Amino acid sequence: MNEEVNKSLNFIEEIIEEDIRNGKHGGRIHTRFPPEPNGYLHIGHAKSICLNFGLAKKYKGKTNLRFDDTNPVTEETEYVESIKYDIKWLGFDWDDREYFASDYFDQLYQFAVKLIKKGKAYVDDSSADDIALMKKNPMEPGVDSPFRNRTIEQNLDLFSRMKNGEFKEGEKVLRAKIDMSSPNMHLRDPILYRILFKPHHRTGDKWCIYPMYDFAHGQCDSIEGITHSICTLEFENHKPLYNWFIDELGIFPSMQIEFARLNLNYTVMSKRKLLQLVKENYVSGWDDPRMPTISGFRRRGYTPDSIRHFASLVGVAKRDNVIDLALLEFSIREDLNKKARRVMAVMEPLKLIITNYPDQIEYLAIENNPEDPNGGSRQVPFGSVLYIEQDDFMEIPSKKFFRLTRNGMVRLKGAYIIECNEVIKNEEGSILEIHCRYLPESKSGEDKTNLKVKSTIHWVEASQAIRGELRLYDRLFSVPDPDNQDSDFKEYINKHSLEIKNAYLEPSLKDSKPGEYYQFIRNAYFTPDLDSAPEQLIFNRTVTLKDAWVKVKEKENN
Ligand code: ATP
Ligand code: MG
Repeated sequence: MNEEVNKSLNFIEEIIEEDIRNGKHGGRIHTRFPPEPNGYLHIGHAKSICLNFGLAKKYKGKTNLRFDDTNPVTEETEYVESIKYDIKWLGFDWDDREYFASDYFDQLYQFAVKLIKKGKAYVDDSSADDIALMKKNPMEPGVDSPFRNRTIEQNLDLFSRMKNGEFKEGEKVLRAKIDMSSPNMHLRDPILYRILFKPHHRTGDKWCIYPMYDFAHGQCDSIEGITHSICTLEFENHKPLYNWFIDELGIFPSMQIEFARLNLNYTVMSKRKLLQLVKENYVSGWDDPRMPTISGFRRRGYTPDSIRHFASLVGVAKRDNVIDLALLEFSIREDLNKKARRVMAVMEPLKLIITNYPDQIEYLAIENNPEDPNGGSRQVPFGSVLYIEQDDFMEIPSKKFFRLTRNGMVRLKGAYIIECNEVIKNEEGSILEIHCRYLPESKSGEDKTNLKVKSTIHWVEASQAIRGELRLYDRLFSVPDPDNQDSDFKEYINKHSLEIKNAYLEPSLKDSKPGEYYQFIRNAYFTPDLDSAPEQLIFNRTVTLKDAWVKVKEKENN
């Protein structure tokens, strides 16, 4: 699939091309993807990954992977590993440029010392609450902390003692000395360092002071020589502070550029909320196929190509907006249409007996994918006892029913035309099985009958059919904006987001494996679940063949 949707330059590309024209940094382009290892990556991160790695690729630059691991409380190695796996799976590579903010703790400490020596930072003994109170609000100038005018010597001494573990958590912080009356609250003497007696997943017990996000992020960009530091809009107000550090420290002038984060309807995307869903067992894990995580999407059968294509379709915006989940599903369908192997599975079986078919099994070659000229074909057993979908038979047809009826004809996919002659019922009048005759001359590919039948239905030969569990996933939330409701977002979980069915499958699916894509024809796209095995086949429904959600909602509302 050609992922790069053909369109004019986005605003970030315009900035980059302008920089290249001006010879800024010698025309060098260097971006980074800076995840905090406090959860699994979601589709919003995928957007950011495609953007950062995509720009570097387009302008022959580089992209660093940098773990923003400045908060030892929430970060874990498990997350680091999953993040790396997901980025690779999406099709991107950072080569050997894998960094951690924690690698720079010594350097960041030296930066802080430098600010103190310039009289631009001080140790404050005020409590967190007092600091917040003294900052006041954007309408009112803040007031200076009583500790703001400590001497450089006092500050150097206290800061080094903070580092040496002489004070308790919360007893002291290091703050930048900027402007307590700035209309930008981030410039009202922001906190640079806090005391935390927590072991870090990489530095262990070496540190008991940790830099705040704002003091770490931009400085890491500079250390790595990042030319274009792309972040989401909520950091727009942090930019003056980002630039203040660059000026005061005299470090590499990385440029912060903000774009609108990707929002999707019918889901939540904050890692904090996703973690709640996992911890409180609303889903089976971070990779539950209903989760908007990359690992969830992978398990559900979404392809890396389709996710990259979606990211490109969404584009790069300067204003926040919400993207319709249907656009993502469209992108998945489009890709799977080309990649998925067509197979047959029957979910609600009706037994069909072909009374004039010999007592034998015949193998029919059925093409794997009409969209793929190299898709080949497979041998599918056919015999006198089949299963078809109950829905595909109506004894007395309604007006627009064109499938099998009593005395009517249909084609069995890849096989023969049949005609139904008899309907066998139990005492209550429910249909037990139907009896048909087949037309031997009508074999697919060599049909000599010239008969025009109105429809083709799928089937599975009964004696060789295998059983499998189908997990029918739907949207995780029943409202478009679960985040913006009066009550807790978890109350809006779609109670029908997982339905489990059993099906009869054609035997070629016996050796199916996770990572393979199938279309169960006339039904939906499916992929083997991670837990699927030949003894116990499990398939996840990736996406339906058409967008049925609108209709479902209409029905519910009536
Ligand atoms: P969350 O709010 O989900 O916890 P985050 O921004 O805290 O997300 P990080 O791990 O800090 O998560 O994000 C890594 C990178 O991914 C950042 O550059 C961030 O801007 C970007 N990113 C996160 N969410 C989105 C999103 N929804 N759309 C685009 N980019 C995003
Ligand atoms: Mg973050």
